[in-house]
Amino acid sequence: MLSFLPILAEPQNFSLLERLLFAAMLLASAYLFWRRFGAVLNKILKSKKDPSFHLFPLGKRVWDFFWEVLCQAKVIRERPLPGLAHALVFWAFLAFALVTLNHCAVGLGFGFLSPASPISRIYFYFAAAFALACAVGILGLFIRRFLVRPQWLGAKLSWESGFIALLIFALMATYLAAFFVADTDPAARVLWWAHTLALLTFLPLIPHTKHLHLVLSPATIFLSRGAFAQIPPLSGDEDFGLVAGTDLTQLVSLQAYSCVECGRCTEHCPAATTGKLLNPKEIILGVRAYLNDLGPSSDQPLLGKYNSQEAVFQCTTCGACEFQCPVGIEHVPILVGLRRGAVNTGTWEDDHGAKLFLTLERGSNALGISPAERDKFIQKQSLPIFDGSQEYCLWLGCMGGYDPKGREIVADFARVMNYLGTSYGVLRKEKCTGDPVRRLGNDLVFQQLAEANLETLAQNKVKKIVSICPHCVRTIQEDWKDYGTPPEIEHHSEFLARYADKLPRTRVLKGHDFSRAENASIKAGTLAPERTETIVFHDPCYLGRYRNVYDQPRTVASLAGTVIEAPRNHERSFCCGAGGGLAFLGEETGQRVSHNRAAELVATGAQTVATACPFCNTMFRDALAATGAAPPQLLDIAQLAARGLPQTDTTLGSMP
Ligand code: SF4
Ligand code: SF4
Repeated sequence: MLSFLPILAEPQNFSLLERLLFAAMLLASAYLFWRRFGAVLNKILKSKKDPSFHLFPLGKRVWDFFWEVLCQAKVIRERPLPGLAHALVFWAFLAFALVTLNHCAVGLGFGFLSPASPISRIYFYFAAAFALACAVGILGLFIRRFLVRPQWLGAKLSWESGFIALLIFALMATYLAAFFVADTDPAARVLWWAHTLALLTFLPLIPHTKHLHLVLSPATIFLSRGAFAQIPPLSGDEDFGLVAGTDLTQLVSLQAYSCVECGRCTEHCPAATTGKLLNPKEIILGVRAYLNDLGPSSDQPLLGKYNSQEAVFQCTTCGACEFQCPVGIEHVPILVGLRRGAVNTGTWEDDHGAKLFLTLERGSNALGISPAERDKFIQKQSLPIFDGSQEYCLWLGCMGGYDPKGREIVADFARVMNYLGTSYGVLRKEKCTGDPVRRLGNDLVFQQLAEANLETLAQNKVKKIVSICPHCVRTIQEDWKDYGTPPEIEHHSEFLARYADKLPRTRVLKGHDFSRAENASIKAGTLAPERTETIVFHDPCYLGRYRNVYDQPRTVASLAGTVIEAPRNHERSFCCGAGGGLAFLGEETGQRVSHNRAAELVATGAQTVATACPFCNTMFRDALAATGAAPPQLLDIAQLAARGLPQTDTTLGSMP
């Protein structure tokens, strides 16, 4: 049936000398592989065990392994062309597993796949199809790395990568060429030895180069912490975070050795792309260099020679790096771990940071304002006090309780809740959730705040919380778990989207001055006399990447106009610069992250920039103004939802 197709040539009758030579080469190659790989494995296994790591439940791990490793879904989704090229190479490696085993067995005289057998032939053709795809893929990756040269791969040309690409290409080419010679042809022998040479040179290079990820990254993805940007709890009084090698856990060491140096993390990092010192790829490679030089038993500091403290404190914890990483590296816990180490050993000296820690240790909010001001705001807005009978506790947060713009958002959200007839109340006493101190590495103050708030919520019998702040939502839902069981919580975008069909639409741009040309078009009937407002929605990191909420805020914003997208949207949204406690630290170096993002939002030409986070809102206030003469208006989605409400709807249950 397959007689019209060529047959893979397999050289016959290897001499004893050839067999001995092959066996010696195979042993040498395996030894060189193990010498380095064994050392790496030893460093990983000798690292501290992760106290919070649980293998079970397995379901998500198995799915991630299938989807991200076997299907290469993330690699392809985030960079379609190079991702597909990479996937072709990976799939070819899988398809080649038996070909390679059989190749070695043939060299030792025990070949188990006969090219004459129909089943083996089908398999050889199957492998040949992948070999062809792999050759094309590796050629594409070579062209990208050496001719296109995207800046994220670094300024230095990696000859090591070029050599490996050549070896992979040679492996595929020699396999394919063997279909076009006869078994007895001396060329078959030459091809077999050329394939052997490429294979046995490639094998020891794997653990000596970034291609170590071929072996480690499937394990890294399978063994990840399982939740996005999850900060593990400190394990007792002796745990100060990542101070020295002895603090590196097996997960962190495994991740450090898995980095493939692709630079995706750096490409998407708001700090790196605005000229800061922080480069997430270098952070990971810094940990690897430390492990290589000093090992996991060293008590030398991790910050200093191997990683910069200044860089570590430039991270906004936006999670773009972690989201992008194709091999499952979890940057945020590593960065926060390094911050913890610096804070807990007193080596981080920053006036703004020290002031924030003191403010939150002694007071109730990160802005350092008297709680009496919050009381006044509650009274002025006639916000009901939570008494246990209402459905929702409306969590104000520091921004909603103390920041003027945040208060406007809360007031408008309360108007919408009133209109909908939702019962809610605010707490008389509420402390900062501890988000900034948690992410800046001060667990002591974070614990105080989390415990105090959990106690207040329990005393008030709160069952459900809604908040305008994605940072509060994340911190309450995930980070507080280290100290108790928080009530159910949702972001106001999720709440509002659920009721979107009950809210009035205000899609006409009021007070729009039509240009002469537009007026002419109206007269000619080619332009409607009403203009819909265009709204560009900025995805807050803690709502999008952290919570996977993308559609709901857009649904709400579309009540007031036509939602358009900035070039970087959804999972690729660019940070506003406030996260990770940075809103409370000093001036940034390089370009301001908020200015970078504001320029992109303005360039969309939208009349309104919509946000769903009071921190984004505060960052864009000045940043939008700095972009030019007539910046777009800046509104939270709650304000857009409230815009169409009748003016007399501030009392509870006023829905018609
Ligand atoms: S979390 Fe964001 S700011 Fe921090 S390193 Fe990653 S991409 Fe950069
Ligand atoms: S950490 Fe991940 S995304 Fe960054 S360079 Fe390494 S492999 Fe690429």
